[in-house]
Amino acid sequence: MILDGKALSDRIKAELTAQTTAFTAQTGVTPCLATILVGEDPASAVYVRSKRRSCAKIGYESRHHHLPADTTQADLLQLVHDLNADDAVHGILVQLPLPKSIDADAIIDAIALHKDVDGFHPRSVGHLALKKPGFAPCTPAGIMRLLQESGIELSGKRAVVIGRSAIVGLPAVLMLTHADATVTVAHSRTTRADLEDLVRKADVVVAAVGRPEFVPGAWIKPGAVVIDVGINRVPNPADPDNPRGMLVGDVEFAAAAERASWITPVPGGVGPMTIAMLMTNTLVAARRAAGLVAFGRSGNQPPEPDRRSDGRS
Ligand code: NAD
Repeated sequence: MILDGKALSDRIKAELTAQTTAFTAQTGVTPCLATILVGEDPASAVYVRSKRRSCAKIGYESRHHHLPADTTQADLLQLVHDLNADDAVHGILVQLPLPKSIDADAIIDAIALHKDVDGFHPRSVGHLALKKPGFAPCTPAGIMRLLQESGIELSGKRAVVIGRSAIVGLPAVLMLTHADATVTVAHSRTTRADLEDLVRKADVVVAAVGRPEFVPGAWIKPGAVVIDVGINRVPNPADPDNPRGMLVGDVEFAAAAERASWITPVPGGVGPMTIAMLMTNTLVAARRAAGLVAFGRSGNQPPEPDRRSDGRS
């Protein structure tokens, strides 16, 4: 069966819309997400546009800061500090990747913990690792929500996560571990033979590599759950002249779908869930800022506000 991230994300956004109407009526506050885009990377611009569209649809304010590619580290830091100090802003999203001239870690470190709706701040990651309340990175949080809403049992199941990036693979390992799966992580130094062995034995496969159809469908254990995080643009054989090509995942979909019990499509699987989790985190941040008790699942609850006098965390 298809794990329909688009349908679930639409449902979550509809719920957030209703919750936002009630929240704003109660507090007079409109949740606000500040987005920062540096440079002209077209893919990043598409991602930010789509996040801002979701904000508008739900009823959040979105404040966009589009800075030139030659923005200095100091100027970008200053903007983050200003947004930290602005009580009308509840969440801050710095679209990655940043230009090479900027130290992305220093920028992420500067985001106030209670506005870190992307969950990339090292302390947010620490909170996740220790199972403390905090913002979880949106892509793996979306995966977990999709699994949970589909009634997929993880306890005692063998999961393999392919990829160990800070934004997808590593937090997915943590979350699946917290959900009592037996988790193995494969990465760029894992041999192809070991990878095949791990995938063939896995009840749950999470592929987050960024290589088109990297996992052959024939490797999937019959009945396994396949979560394909990869987004890869390749030429479209049915429309070879179209320069936009088509999107495929990291798993060979058709062959994997014949063996899997559940599988996410690309597009329409994990991608929309990522945005739904960002939107969820933004409302959580606004509710916390308004002094209301956080709602939602433990993985997506924010940390206690942790403001220094200069507004930095
Ligand atoms: P990344 O490049 O940071 O990490 C890729 C990971 O793949 C690395 O940890 C690396 O160790 C691993 N890897 C590389 N070669 C491998 C090999 N031969 N065998 C096993 N592992 C190998 O990428 P990322 O940011 O984690 O993203 C991964 C993919 O997911 C990309 O296609 C990206 O576009 C996509 N993505 C999708 C969403 C979404 O919302 N759907 C969000 C983030 C990323």
